[in-house]
Amino acid sequence: MHGEPRDGRIVIVGASLAGLRAAETLREEGFAGTLTLIGEEPHTPYDRPPLSKQVLLGTVSADKTGLPQRREVDAEWKLGVRATGLDPVGKQVLLADGEKVPFDRLLIATGTRARPWPNPAEAALDGVFTLRTIEDAGRLAERLDAGPRRVLVVGAGFTGSEIASACRERGLEVTVAERGPAPLVGALGGTLGALAAKLQRAHGVDLRCGVTVTALEGNGRLTGARFSDGTGIDADVAVVALGAVRNTEWLAESGIAAGPRGVTCDAGCRAFDMYGIVTDDVFAAGDVARFPHPLFEYQLLSLEHWGNAVAQAEVAAHNMIHAGPRRRPHLTVPAFWSSQFGLNIKSVGVPTFSDQVVIAQGSLKDARLVAVYGYRGRVTAAVSVNQAKSLEYYQRLIETAAPFPPAPGAADRIESPEPVPSDVPDPKVLSHGPTVALTGHLPDRRLTLVQPAR
Ligand SMILES: Cc1cc2nc3c(=O)[nH]c(=O)nc-3n(C[C@H](O)[C@H](O)[C@H](O)COP(=O)(O)OP(=O)(O)OC[C@H]3O[C@@H](n4cnc5c(N)ncnc54)[C@H](O)[C@@H]3O)c2cc1C
Repeated sequence: MHGEPRDGRIVIVGASLAGLRAAETLREEGFAGTLTLIGEEPHTPYDRPPLSKQVLLGTVSADKTGLPQRREVDAEWKLGVRATGLDPVGKQVLLADGEKVPFDRLLIATGTRARPWPNPAEAALDGVFTLRTIEDAGRLAERLDAGPRRVLVVGAGFTGSEIASACRERGLEVTVAERGPAPLVGALGGTLGALAAKLQRAHGVDLRCGVTVTALEGNGRLTGARFSDGTGIDADVAVVALGAVRNTEWLAESGIAAGPRGVTCDAGCRAFDMYGIVTDDVFAAGDVARFPHPLFEYQLLSLEHWGNAVAQAEVAAHNMIHAGPRRRPHLTVPAFWSSQFGLNIKSVGVPTFSDQVVIAQGSLKDARLVAVYGYRGRVTAAVSVNQAKSLEYYQRLIETAAPFPPAPGAADRIESPEPVPSDVPDPKVLSHGPTVALTGHLPDRRLTLVQPAR
């Protein structure tokens, strides 16, 4: 490391939520060296959660979503330029405009982008959208203002469900196509998925589960879609909400452990190299990071939560300017929120890290409840629906690995006190192919080679 940890050159790639919060923390904690933020988007950092909520409803305009700055950040901002490579030996970031930016310590905060519709010709039809940026949200809100006859939402995860909710609130006809058995199943499992399905239908959504969209149709302009069950619909807007892709391609030649699951780092946010050896000058935070959490058996978590991006950026920044024992682990209990169809959904812990779920407070019937998730007899997550005030209590149960099901007493009115299978996606089913392969046979000469995505 160059000089004292509080001096030297720090470069942050990704100038959004995690990048900004890291920059603020660095200055707050006394970093006195030079600080550079590199961001592909031309904008100063803005907030993404309102894009699928207030912006689509038309109550906030897309350009009014700027993130408030906690303090003045003395930094050079290079906006509207993409980082295309990282030279870890020469210690420089390569930019699309040919510039090379040297660093002593680097923070990778490049987040995710919307997974595009797989057929480029269909994706290019006028009326087909994804939602990740303010441009996306502004264009989609404008199209919804024009009063389309029907909106198709492809995918009923959180973003897709929020988009469908905003469309219904505007009085638009909406079809939601979901490959799984119900909305939100991938994140919250079967019990709350069934509740979400019921509510979407009650709000007038034409919800089709267990089907995939096989084609988006049109001639220049979207006119409709075909489904795997042989049916089809007419639609003039389609929003592809098939999850996110981690922005790691620029690191392909860098020797950093970066792939479709994110940049793997330790609990102190230090990135691993491709051999699995921790670096000490490259850090990662936010949606792009993949990190071990002791509460969840050190499994590597890849989260897309606003609160995690903030907390992890603060830890990364602290650790970039502190050495050895003064470094901190990123141990925040994951938490996120969503609002849709009149529901305020809040989650703590990792609902997918579970084998059972119990309605510990309230009832599914009233759509006002706390669902508590357990894994092998301990509490690992809790999700509240219109009842957020008791989540802190369950967070403590998660933090202390309290027995599952939780003791009665926390319950005001239990509808069904018996735990049922949580029906979350099977973690053994791999979502990606291998990303590296080993070569050579002398134990001290073995190398890892990056495998192209399959
Ligand atoms: C529509 C929507 C709704 C959401 N709602 C919620 C919610 O209700 N609750 C919740 O908890 N979370 C929500 N989230 C998630 C939350 O916004 C993210 O967790 C958060 O934005 C992560 O911040 P980040 O800085 O890690 O990544 P990002 O916000 O993805 O920022 C990464 C930045 O890096 C830039 N970048 C990428 N590659 C490069 C490169 N090579 N060179 C330079 N710059 C690059 C990108 O352009 C981007 O500006 C929502 C997200 C979206 C899109």
